[in-house]
Amino acid sequence: MSKLRVAGPDLPAALKQVIDYRKSGLSLNHVVGCPLDCGYCVRHLFANYEMKKPHLVVGDTEAIEALVGHWAFQPDTTPIQIFNRATDPFLPMVKDHLFTCLEDLDQRGLTNPVLVITRWHVEPADVARLEHLRNLKLTILVTWSGIENDKIEPVDSGIAERSLEVLSRHAVRTKSILYWRPIIAGLNDTDLHFARARGLAALADATVFTGLFFRDEIRAHFKAIGVPDLYSDVARRKIFPVGVERRVLEAFTGIPLFRKTSCGVAFAHGISDYNGHYGVQEICDICPILQVGLCAAAHLKPPMPRVEALAATAGLDPGSISIDDRRIEVADSNEQQRYFMQHSLNYQVHDRKHPHHLGRHGRAELGWT
Ligand code: SF4
Repeated sequence: MSKLRVAGPDLPAALKQVIDYRKSGLSLNHVVGCPLDCGYCVRHLFANYEMKKPHLVVGDTEAIEALVGHWAFQPDTTPIQIFNRATDPFLPMVKDHLFTCLEDLDQRGLTNPVLVITRWHVEPADVARLEHLRNLKLTILVTWSGIENDKIEPVDSGIAERSLEVLSRHAVRTKSILYWRPIIAGLNDTDLHFARARGLAALADATVFTGLFFRDEIRAHFKAIGVPDLYSDVARRKIFPVGVERRVLEAFTGIPLFRKTSCGVAFAHGISDYNGHYGVQEICDICPILQVGLCAAAHLKPPMPRVEALAATAGLDPGSISIDDRRIEVADSNEQQRYFMQHSLNYQVHDRKHPHHLGRHGRAELGWT
């Protein structure tokens, strides 16, 4: 019996839909609401930022059945994320649901990668329970930014630091990632921040770094609480200026560091990247040589009939596909359709409308032009 309140009928429609498909996998979100108040939270985009207490949308059994019955779910293949949209999975009471879902999936013998993102307390007893899983490839991504401005991020970064320490001491089959984000130019990109991040990287199996997701709704929130604009403009993609990236790379010379979440996950588990980023070769310039070998061996240009069949399953027009050594290109697609194909083939799938720019690593134009 859940100790969480049940979400009311006024929950925004986007949040009533407990499964969506994102780049890091099929995302299960049947608990929504969070007290942690990170100012840049994506809940601003779902009109859910004011829900400070976690609420249950549907029960765990119903949620898991919806996940494994989803048209895009493939046993042992599709990456899964749990509670990565509208709550923190390690909050009290929320973590009961996290453990129930993980154990249910694991008991089905599924070996899918599972990503769990937190900035909250991960206790030794939590890790002990996670270590009992036998099949899922589980990664805990611990978000840390070192931001000290309480209006932007009220949660003490020391909590994430302790969680990384606990994982480092107690986890064996459970992999951990220092999820260093959001790095914001002029705010948390000093040499001191970089030195602290280097220290934390030693506690994790890999480090992934990224920038700020800065949309109109997030900008408006900061304006309302008196935080000056973090960047001069909003963007569809994450903002990460090239100059900051150069300094991060310099600071991490010799330390395993990844631009893409799935690359960090792949390295932590000793497998190839399930998003096929290897096709976008310039992403791999910072990757450890053994990992490059793994991804290179797995990067096989898929035959057109297989691609067309997957496109048809996803509801895309098979007639509009082109394939080259870097990527598959489709037309008039949504993210769900592209990620289904990408994760099935471990090969990048792009839409003609959103071409990738060489060397920009899928980030916003701001700071690169
Ligand atoms: S080789 Fe490239 S695709 Fe593979 S993990 Fe490294 S950066 Fe990612």
